Amino acid sequence: MLNDVAIIGGGPVGSRVAEKMAGAGYRVVVLEQKEQMGGPVCCTGIISQECVDTFGIEESTIVRKVKSARFFSPSGKLVSIQRSDSQACIVDRPAFNISMAKRAQSMGVEYMLGSTVTDLTVEIDGVAIEVTRRGEQYSDCYKARAVVLTTGSDLKIAHRMALGDLGDFITGVQAEVATDGVDEIEVYLGNQIAPGYFAWLVPTGPQRGLAGLLSRQSPGLYLREFIAFLRSNGRITTAEPEFNYGFIPLRPISRSYGERLLIAGSAAGQVKPTTGGGIYYGLLCADIAAENLGRALREGDLSARNLAAYEKAWRNKLGSEFRVGHWARRFFELLSDAQIEWLFDIAIEDGIAEKLVGDGDISFDWHSKAILRLLGQKAVSQVVRMIKSPLPFSRTG
Ligand SMILES: Cc1cc2nc3c(=O)[nH]c(=O)nc-3n(C[C@H](O)[C@H](O)[C@H](O)COP(=O)(O)OP(=O)(O)OC[C@H]3O[C@@H](n4cnc5c(N)ncnc54)[C@H](O)[C@@H]3O)c2cc1C
Repeated sequence: MLNDVAIIGGGPVGSRVAEKMAGAGYRVVVLEQKEQMGGPVCCTGIISQECVDTFGIEESTIVRKVKSARFFSPSGKLVSIQRSDSQACIVDRPAFNISMAKRAQSMGVEYMLGSTVTDLTVEIDGVAIEVTRRGEQYSDCYKARAVVLTTGSDLKIAHRMALGDLGDFITGVQAEVATDGVDEIEVYLGNQIAPGYFAWLVPTGPQRGLAGLLSRQSPGLYLREFIAFLRSNGRITTAEPEFNYGFIPLRPISRSYGERLLIAGSAAGQVKPTTGGGIYYGLLCADIAAENLGRALREGDLSARNLAAYEKAWRNKLGSEFRVGHWARRFFELLSDAQIEWLFDIAIEDGIAEKLVGDGDISFDWHSKAILRLLGQKAVSQVVRMIKSPLPFSRTG
């Protein structure tokens, strides 16, 4: 049966593209390798209130709403960012995935679970999809006029289709822990804790939370030490939790379209480089993908040339966030613990955090404005000059 659109990967981004395409009247199938939608997901599930409002995220999937975040320097100095209204929501990721899939199904999307896509062949009238299901390979079951790849950090198909490469990756690792009195998001900085990155402790329920970190080297080793540190400070009571690992892209893919083909979400590197959060940007790009694919289907022109408009549109919306955010991330990686302490001192003495919150420049999702404002602060620009990091103003994609 020829579908109009096949979505490869039933995460939130795939389900959102599917929902929008089916809502526009197209016949859509989602091929998902997991046997069930509510399987475990390695993700903390923090999204902004803006994301909840924009996409009408189902309230029942939200396990916690938080108004503030506490940042700890390597020596334990604290900068707290506080707002009067809720800034971040923590969703139960398996429940969130199910909810997004149900929305798509209610529009008529068919989900084929336990279906791993192993290859795609672009033909004159559509894309032939090779699927492995319970060890059996099927090469003639699925064909679609167009395919959207939303395979998360699994890039095997993207590489087979010679789409662009992701320039930078990081490993995330986290564990579910029993907490004691943790009500806010806590972020820990320092090269002993998560070199160049950060660790977190996030409340997910009464006396439950997720502890995790990002690191380029030995993430499991650093998480073991972080768990021991939290335990010795009485923040958590779990001794040896199970660790889950995942890859997070830090730069968008160099080419996100091909003949009858688009790629979106984490697979396209549409992730905030500052924090590794990919749900909101992925959903925004899902809508851009659906809009452009719908237009191309209506025009009957699924050529790469016509689908290139998708890439132009998401880069227009998010390009400066990716560019400035990646610069900030690389800059942060160069800082020693002493320099991080210095930045904390500046933030505390000059009240920079309060100023940015007061002026509305710090937003959970849009970081480039705050980063550029910070660079305008004399003390901060001194640190940048000392590190000799080229500023993020040149357009490098
Ligand atoms: C430790 C960690 C913490 C994170 N915390 C946050 C956070 O707090 N907030 C946030 O916004 N983001 C967070 N992220 C990132 C977030 O998880 C991703 O950006 C988000 O899940 C991307 O959604 P997606 O739909 O693009 O991909 P995914 O959610 O990864 O979904 C991809 C789907 O494709 C399926 N698939 C893959 N290959 C195939 C194939 N060949 N055939 C069929 N199916 C396939 C997979 O099974 C999966 O279901 C975190 C990531 C990690 C690793």
